[in-house]
Amino acid sequence: MTDPLLLGQRVLAILEHGQRDATYKLATLMALIEHSLENLPAGPDDPLTVPIPELAHRVLALYWHQVRPFEGHELAQRRTGSRTRIIDATKALREVARAGNSRLSLELASGRAPAAYTEAIERIALALIKQPLPRLQKLPGASRNDPFLYDDSFLGENVSRSSVRAHGDAIVLRPGVATALARLAGLLKPALEMMWVEDVRRMNKFLESDVPDVAGHLFGRERTALAAVRGPYKETFGPHCFYCSAHLPADNPIDHVLPWSLVGIDGLANLVLACRRCNGDKSNALPAMALVDRALSDTRLSALDDIATQLQWPTQRERVVAAARGIYRGQPPGVPTWSGYKHSERLDITFSSWWIAQI
Ligand SMILES: [Zn+2]
Repeated sequence: MTDPLLLGQRVLAILEHGQRDATYKLATLMALIEHSLENLPAGPDDPLTVPIPELAHRVLALYWHQVRPFEGHELAQRRTGSRTRIIDATKALREVARAGNSRLSLELASGRAPAAYTEAIERIALALIKQPLPRLQKLPGASRNDPFLYDDSFLGENVSRSSVRAHGDAIVLRPGVATALARLAGLLKPALEMMWVEDVRRMNKFLESDVPDVAGHLFGRERTALAAVRGPYKETFGPHCFYCSAHLPADNPIDHVLPWSLVGIDGLANLVLACRRCNGDKSNALPAMALVDRALSDTRLSALDDIATQLQWPTQRERVVAAARGIYRGQPPGVPTWSGYKHSERLDITFSSWWIAQI
């Protein structure tokens, strides 16, 4: 079996060496981690096929909000001379979908402009097979790639989409890699975000003088954006904390059930009303499985469908379920989970519910 720690060290090593030319490698790795978490294979030593269009969708989702102007500036995500294919494709879709500078979700935008969405995915897929994917696995000082994550011999600057399609249009994560990446998600994701913020600061001179919240812009921690769900949630579920039932004031927080730091899912299925006390105490902790069970209950999910229509805000139910399954099945038994204000309990792997079951 792949040792997750060794794999994690190697992943960080490929990123640490020298100065990164662009944020695309970080995006590709984040997308691979997310995909592994949400598609955890049955056996810990199994390989995992990652369709390149799906990877392209995740990369698009990462840049989707990032390409909006920040404090009046277009943020550079690369050093002069590097390609901008991924950013250009993302901006083109925003334009056709008339997203402007709003926080319109990628799901809605792709529904509004399906042809432009398909084109964006194709452009990003092409960019990925030419640059980040074939270059990702080069270790410091090495003259050639060490394909420890996936075979990249059929990828490269001169390949075409059709030749990659003929090869299955996917990369295959080596046996054990997907499970190791899923287990490491809680460590790697925040590390990659920090590197990303560092890179963007380095690539944009205006960010050096003052210290605006560029991390918030890049990774969607703009809490104000979530405020829209508060009213409809209170009408539907009552003005109570999801965790402790306390009566809520007008400006209570909206909490991500599966921590934002682990999986950046803003779909309604992952959002609940919380009191300040529970929200602060829970922070980035993994919730007890029974809480996830409640968040994914049939009654809650069907009520969320109505709110989703009303707000034009997707529930992302399937994604939340897949992420929850990946997270909990990848945890060693007995790790502490947050079960309520100042309470924790050991992860109980015998807990069984429809969402954790083997598929
Ligand atoms: Zn509470």
